[in-house]
Formats: sequence, C-alpha cells, structure tokens
Amino acid sequence: MARLAGDEFTVILPAVGDAGVAGGIAEAILERIAAPYRLAGELVVVSASIGVATWPKDADNAEDLLVCADQAMFAAKEEGRNRWKVFTQALLQAERERLRITQDLRTALASGQFALHYQPIVNLRTGKVCKAEALIRWDHPVRGPIHPADFIAVAEESGLIIDIGRWVLTEALDQLARWQVLLGKGFQISVNKSPVEFCAPASGPESWSSMIERRNVPVGSLVIEITEGSLMEQNADVMDQLSRFQAAGIEIALDDFGTGYSSLSYLRRLDIDYIKIDQSFIRSLTRGPDDVALCHAIISMAHALRIRVIAEGIETESQRDILLAAGCDYGQGHFFCPPVEASAFEAYVSAVT
Ligand code: C2E
Ligand code: MG
Ligand code: MG
Repeated sequence: MARLAGDEFTVILPAVGDAGVAGGIAEAILERIAAPYRLAGELVVVSASIGVATWPKDADNAEDLLVCADQAMFAAKEEGRNRWKVFTQALLQAERERLRITQDLRTALASGQFALHYQPIVNLRTGKVCKAEALIRWDHPVRGPIHPADFIAVAEESGLIIDIGRWVLTEALDQLARWQVLLGKGFQISVNKSPVEFCAPASGPESWSSMIERRNVPVGSLVIEITEGSLMEQNADVMDQLSRFQAAGIEIALDDFGTGYSSLSYLRRLDIDYIKIDQSFIRSLTRGPDDVALCHAIISMAHALRIRVIAEGIETESQRDILLAAGCDYGQGHFFCPPVEASAFEAYVSAVT
C-alpha cells in the first residue's frame, strides 16, 4: 500500500491474476472507507473511487500501469463516485478521443469552424413557422462535420462552452435582428444554454444577461432553452440569472422534458414559458395508447400551469396528427424541416407561407 499524493493511494495485489478478484477486494475497501467514523466529536463520511489495472495485460511497466489505473479511477469518479472500475482499451480510446476534441475545440472558435443552423418550430394549429431553434454545427477541417452530441459534453468539461455559448448567442442575436424585419416582429429564436454556462464565475467574460441587455433585444423575441441539469443544484445564482432573463423579456423553455428527475416541482417554482417534450416520447407515439396517454397528460398539465408545449423530433405525419389532436401547441422535427442554414430557412418559410 502506498500514498502517491494528497488523497491518492495505490494498492498492489501481487498474488492476484485477474481483475475480477481484484474487484472483490476493491469492493471491500470501498465499503470500509464509506463507513462513517468520528473525527473530533463529529460524525464524518468519505467515499473513494478505485481504478483497477492488471500487469502485464494492460501495461508492462509500472509507470504505464499507473496511468491505466488512473484512467479507470477517473471513469469510476465520473460514474458517480464510491465505485470501482476496471481499465479497458475502450476507456483509453475514449480518453484519447476526448483529448483530441478538447485540443481541436480550442482553435475551432478562432478559426471560424462553427456555424449556426436553424430549425423551424411550427404552430401546429395554423402550420405557420413562428420560431427557430439555433443549433451549433462544427465543420472540422480534417474530420469533417462533428455532431454536437460528440463535442458539447467535452466543451462543457473543459469550460470552452462558455466562449462557444457567447459566440452562439451573438450570432443568434444578429440573425434575430434580421428576421424580426424579414419575418415579422413576433418571430422568435431559441438558443440552448448548458448547465455549465449557468455556473460561470461572475468575474469572467460578460454574462448572457448583460449581453442581452446591452443589445436591447425586443421583448418576447428570444427564448433560452435550459435542461433540468441547470436547475438541479437549486443554486440561488441560477434562479437569479433566470429572473434577470425574464425581467428582460426573455422566455424560458425547459428542454428534453421527461428525461430528468423531479420536473414537476421545477414547473411549480419557476416561471417557465415552454416545455419541450423529448423526442423519445414522440418517437414511441405510434406504438400504443400508453404513450399517447403520456403526451396527453404532459400537455394538459402544462396548460393547467399556463405553460405552452413544443414537441421535439416529429418525423411523421401521424405523429403530428396525434399531437395536434392532443392539444400540443408547437412542433419541431424532420417532418417539417431539419436544421438548415439561415438562407435555406428563409427559403423554407417562404415556400410554406
Ligand atoms: P436539443 O436542444 O434537444 O436539440 C434538438 C436536437 O434534435 C438537434 O440535434 C436536432 O437536430 C435534432 N432533431 C430535430 N428534429 C429531429 C427529428 O425529427 N429527428 C431526429 N432524430 N432528430 C431531430 P443536434 O443539432 O445534433 O443537437 C444535439 C444537442 O446538442 C441539442 O439537443 C443541444 O442539447 C445541444 N446543442 C446544440 N447546439 C447547442 C448550442 O449552441 N449550445 C449548447 N449549449 N448546446 C447545444
Ligand atoms: Mg434545445
Ligand atoms: Mg431537446
């Protein structure tokens, strides 16, 4: 047993051939560490995360073996602490990929590799396009287009999302100014804001609220989409930012509704303007009456709280029809139009009106 650094310890098990047996020992260590104990009269609880690497399978020298164990330990931490995890090649690959994306993201903003696409949000009753969701696109100079699903999380971990988000907001506000003239005063753009962006230090770059206030964004023309992750921490600062947005006439939409935890209490506490039913619910709509009932329930509950409902990921006519019959207000999805460049968005709007 060795202490390598502050709170980092290493246990060497010389007589153990495979990771499975080591796992049992890791389990026992976790259990002992997690047991509460008294420290200067106080009851304290700590937890540990353990990574397991095996010689000579994972590495043939001590240095590399420690790196492997470290990586498995970080993975265990990420999965929620008080866990153990065995090193695998897939872990290593994922880590390499993450590093590569982080590095490339650092230069992507400065060299203009990002673009914003816009997806129409349609009023289901009238068929009119009344909003657009701004969605970021990354065109990597070597690897080509990279999906947000493959880089937003990495941008969040590295803190790069702060600058990227500010770029997105600036772009979207420029576009909004043009579309307010071209498509009418009632036209709205919605922008996604990740939980990490709500936790940005106050001393950092200008906040979204001040950016929005400085630009005199017309009341009711901008929507900010947040996920429940932003609200989880019950942070006074997040509430503060949300009320600043609302005071500036910005509307708030709760994205991916139905995939998180205690959605209902947030709805009661916050002045949410829209909920966006997650695509997973829409996808299963044509599968059976239970899923239809679920959407009905979400819509009635929202309406009772004076919240409007947007259905995400509508891909077929029958999904649209079911949602319309259920009283859903707005729809978005490939059935209408995928996210497209601003010029194609304008072409779509003039084609349908
Ligand atoms: P989201 O905000 O829930 O956005 C909706 C996603 O659904 C988009 O994926 C959109 O392209 C996709 N989608 C729309 N209609 C359909 C459909 O009919 N079928 C299917 N299968 N998919 C549909 P996208 O653009 O890949 O973005 C994924 C996620 O990345 C977004 O989910 C959002 O959470 C995040 N994201 C995108 N742009 C930004 C951004 O500028 N800032 C931040 N913080 N996050 C962003
Ligand atoms: Mg969204
Ligand atoms: Mg969504």
